[in-house]
Amino acid sequence: MATAISLAERGVAVDLIDLDAEWRVYGAGITITGPTLRAYRRLGLLEEIKQQGAITSKTRLFRYDGTHMLDLDEPVIEEGLPATGGIMRPVLHHIMQKRVRELAIPVRLGLTVDALQNMDDHVNVGFSDGTCGSYDLVVGADSVFSKVRDLAFPHMGQAQPTGQGCWRISIRKPPGLEMGEFFLGHANPCGITACAPDMVYMWMLTAHEERESFMSDDELFDTLKLLLADFGGNAGWIRDNMTRSDWINYRPLAAALQPANWFDGRIVLLGDAVHATTPHLASGAGMAVESGIVLAEELARTDDVSTALRAYQDRRYSRCRDVIETSVAVGQLQLDHGDPQIHAKMLEGALSRLNEPF
Ligand SMILES: Cc1cc2nc3c(=O)[nH]c(=O)nc-3n(C[C@H](O)[C@H](O)[C@H](O)COP(=O)(O)OP(=O)(O)OC[C@H]3O[C@@H](n4cnc5c(N)ncnc54)[C@H](O)[C@@H]3O)c2cc1C
Repeated sequence: MATAISLAERGVAVDLIDLDAEWRVYGAGITITGPTLRAYRRLGLLEEIKQQGAITSKTRLFRYDGTHMLDLDEPVIEEGLPATGGIMRPVLHHIMQKRVRELAIPVRLGLTVDALQNMDDHVNVGFSDGTCGSYDLVVGADSVFSKVRDLAFPHMGQAQPTGQGCWRISIRKPPGLEMGEFFLGHANPCGITACAPDMVYMWMLTAHEERESFMSDDELFDTLKLLLADFGGNAGWIRDNMTRSDWINYRPLAAALQPANWFDGRIVLLGDAVHATTPHLASGAGMAVESGIVLAEELARTDDVSTALRAYQDRRYSRCRDVIETSVAVGQLQLDHGDPQIHAKMLEGALSRLNEPF
């Protein structure tokens, strides 16, 4: 949607398709860091995110027992831009959908691509409903399991498991929570992000065990409660106040930086399809939004599509590599029970590099 919005705003005619017939997103919260808020500001969506989500000036780091360690330095990177924030994913999805509708972008749902044929100056596309079309450019922003990638870039691989899994719960806000919180120094670090005046989501990272891929709602609840046994502060509050009706999810983590080139002829990949990361820097969605904006900017700069696609890749490759490599390294440090101070420094270093213009 970010790519479609950025292109449509520059006068490009866009067709948007999505596999999900109901165009939904699951019920977790999402952390929106300063750089991600900056990208959403470029899409004209910052004010709505501020109104419907939650913004804060800092993230506070604790030892897992609730002892305060330090506050992350999260400077305001642009005048008038909040330092960091969070929002419920369905709320963010609706804000973006509304902008897509305002721009009159045609949206076809319950649809995927079955065939792609790269020609000299266009792509012939066969859709899953039997229709076909011809496009100047096809953008595959269709998730970590990208079908466009499978069809047009068969040499690229699937994202690789990192050995960790992520638990998430959406729950009412602990009364004492004032800003984002991380709880470190435990084999299973966790964090809390405010997503609305009265809602937060909490995440916890654990070493992945295969049996955990198939848990019932009751097992999810019981296991997460047990995993929080050692935690103090607001993480302990969530353990003591969570209910079986709260949204709880567990997902094994995987990451992949696909090899360049991210384009071939008139087909280009974007987002998790080429730069899928783990949540350690809370930046995967931010990277996808930035990539959409950069692609539209580069296409607007020249009539030569291959020059634009190369410039897009050049601007995105090392920034996305930094996010993925740092995220995977932080995850490995956690699996190795590394020093929480090193963990905190790695987070701080990577987040400040992301403050650089994209
Ligand atoms: C546990 C976890 C926590 C995370 N937390 C954060 C966070 O706090 N902050 C952050 O910035 N990032 C976070 N991320 C990363 C973020 O969710 C992803 O990086 C981001 O959603 C990628 O966006 P995308 O548009 O590339 O793909 P997606 O969000 O997966 O969207 C892909 C879209 O394509 C559609 N689609 C899929 N297949 C097809 C097909 N074959 N044909 C047509 N359409 C298709 C889907 O329906 C979907 O609408 C987290 C990730 C995980 C796993």
